[in-house]
Amino acid sequence: MKHLFLLVLFSLFFFNCKTDKKPIVKKNIPYAIVLHGGAGNITPNNLSKKKQKEYKLVLEKALDAGYLILENNGSALDAVQKTISILEDSPLFNAGKGSVFDSQGKNKMDASIMDGKTLNSGAVTGVGNIKNPIFLAKTVMDKTKYVLLSGKGAEIFAEQNNIKFENDDYFYTKRQADYLLKVQKRERDSKFATNDFKNNKVSNKSIILNKSNSKIIHKYGTVGAVALDKFGNIAAGTSTGGLTNKKYGRIGDSPLIGAGTYANNKTCGISCTGVGEYFIRTLAAHEASNLIQYKNNSAKEAIKEVIHSQIANLGGQGGMIILDKKGNIAWTFNTKGMFRALKKSTGEKEISFFTN
Ligand code: ASP
Repeated sequence: MKHLFLLVLFSLFFFNCKTDKKPIVKKNIPYAIVLHGGAGNITPNNLSKKKQKEYKLVLEKALDAGYLILENNGSALDAVQKTISILEDSPLFNAGKGSVFDSQGKNKMDASIMDGKTLNSGAVTGVGNIKNPIFLAKTVMDKTKYVLLSGKGAEIFAEQNNIKFENDDYFYTKRQADYLLKVQKRERDSKFATNDFKNNKVSNKSIILNKSNSKIIHKYGTVGAVALDKFGNIAAGTSTGGLTNKKYGRIGDSPLIGAGTYANNKTCGISCTGVGEYFIRTLAAHEASNLIQYKNNSAKEAIKEVIHSQIANLGGQGGMIILDKKGNIAWTFNTKGMFRALKKSTGEKEISFFTN
């Protein structure tokens, strides 16, 4: 009996020592957050001063909210989630509330999140009526043995885990509805048009297109964030409604770990935006991480190589944000602009839209 008592006492002591162990703050590296709100045809001519103000306001709110979490000893994962959820709640971006419509007039969203410390990841694709797909992706990561859940199954999982749903009206924005009609008209007039536009039914007369000559119509607005916390941990996430008028259950790069999102404490965190097909074909986010790990590239060199050589050579368009393990931030795009912002514990802060 006495031995049993001593054993219980010892276990309690041991357990307490273990749980009391706090993560160590890495004082020699800055903590930081970087975000994007999509790359595309963003120019001073396309974006009125009033609109620029509106975008700046939301980008800054999302940036500051993520940064505050880092400042208060929070994790990079929490910062990324919070930042992305604020952008998802805005009608200005193609994610959550402001998501684009697919060919059936539905909002089908994709999201992913990755923890650079453990390489744990969670993602969802083709989900409808989920208020914040990034929370669902994080729940997949935390509560399942899987990485990627799709469609109806992901929605059932969301219900079981008290994820917030919204009705179709919540996701309706006139801007995206008008854009759907415009894209459908443009695609109908195109020589690559398929018959499914006429009656919204999939046609068996669809033309098989050569990837290099079929132009995908892309509009900006996907959102993403990467953070580095005080403990040296990196996280990255991306959320999108995908491409306007997407068909056949099309899935882009945003929910695919290694394509649209990647994080690894050994190298960096990355979130991508652009025509997803090119980012899948080049495994863009993982490729940039590899260039750092195996070719000794700087963060800036790595994303330059991926966007301006590999993706551009295939005819692809888009952009990337990167934050490396030392706190270096870089971004690049081969479109006219990209909504982007950064904040670092060194005092640096920037919010910009256009080519500098
Ligand atoms: N990458 C997203 C997709 O292809 C779209 C975007 O970033 O604008 O679904």
